[in-house]
Amino acid sequence: MKVEFFKHNIGPDEIRDLRKVLDGVFLTLGETVYQFERDLAGYLGCKDAVGVSSCTAALHLSLLAVGVGKGDEVITTPLSFTATANAILHAGAKPVFVDVERETGNLDARRVEKAITRKTKAILPVHLYGHLCDMKKLSAVARKRGLALVEDCAHCLEGERDGVRPAQVSDAACFSFYATKNITSGEGGAVATNSKELADRVRVLRLHGMTKSAADRYTAKSPHWDQEELGFKSNMDNIQASLLLGQLKKVEGYLKRREQICRTYEDAFASSDGVGYPKVLSGTKSARHLFTLWVDPKRRDEIVVTLREKGIGCTINYRPIHLLRYYRKRFGFKPGAFPNAEWIGDRTLTLPLYPKLTPREITHVVRTVQEVVGNGSAPARAC
Ligand SMILES: *Cc1c(COP(=O)(O)O)cnc(C)c1O
Repeated sequence: MKVEFFKHNIGPDEIRDLRKVLDGVFLTLGETVYQFERDLAGYLGCKDAVGVSSCTAALHLSLLAVGVGKGDEVITTPLSFTATANAILHAGAKPVFVDVERETGNLDARRVEKAITRKTKAILPVHLYGHLCDMKKLSAVARKRGLALVEDCAHCLEGERDGVRPAQVSDAACFSFYATKNITSGEGGAVATNSKELADRVRVLRLHGMTKSAADRYTAKSPHWDQEELGFKSNMDNIQASLLLGQLKKVEGYLKRREQICRTYEDAFASSDGVGYPKVLSGTKSARHLFTLWVDPKRRDEIVVTLREKGIGCTINYRPIHLLRYYRKRFGFKPGAFPNAEWIGDRTLTLPLYPKLTPREITHVVRTVQEVVGNGSAPARAC
């Protein structure tokens, strides 16, 4: 049996919406994007949302919009996809890593204040695997020290903690609609915010710094537009938005299913020897984007290879950013710099998690993992 690492949820509803766009005139940034922006802001309960080409672009433009630039420092986590730190570099600033909590893998809010210097301009937490960071504490620190707060919500569209959801206590929340995210258009992203002003800044920055989009130029009486600054080419288009509209309406149902699958995994592995997994703190609603296991670090890579050979799609999220070659070379990081991120990075592996997983597939994943992990822990008997 082959179990794919991920299957998307694009179906008849999404294809119908796509058809409408294809039958119309505007393929690029236009009414369908604006509709998705209104729906996303409505779902999150925040004032505005802006569709962009990726979460990397969302992070980059949000950092610029809050005033991050050359010579600044941005505090973030080493345990994330490299896009998080790359966006800080794209904005001209330096990522300052702060270690994570061993239990959840999230940026440890208690360690953030010690890392603040005169150059610190912003804090960029990542809600790892869908579990929100301690946003109450982080927003209190940001307010007290006059820092911007930008959230990497690539894993966390649906989450809530202490009554706080993405974009509610930060300057901006950045989402990804990349191929394997909870809702997807292949590529895509968005910035959600309670600041009308920040949203308008991102709208200008996503399209070259121009004062009008193509659709605005089409409908306006005057054909003229101007450019006030040097922006980027990072807009979402109507094709992407059409694929997201239907999925967004169904996110809570998808989450329920992923929650059930995670509970099944947790129950199965709670009593398995040599296996652990991150904790979802009680009272929090995790977006349950990824289900990760912790195994013997000496055997992790071999276990991933064996599971793949046996047809179980699995991957690693993440080896810490500071130990990637580029970051080691540029900033001189060495192993041991962030022990908790490295502890998790050395033993983590990610199992399939998506609504289309069937009960048979889930049982097969559990049995195969138990068999593969169990085999290596008893080499004496195997001989
Ligand atoms: C996927 C991901 C990103 C980047 O998203 P793109 O839309 O591919 O740019 C950023 N941060 C995290 C944590 C991610 O998982």
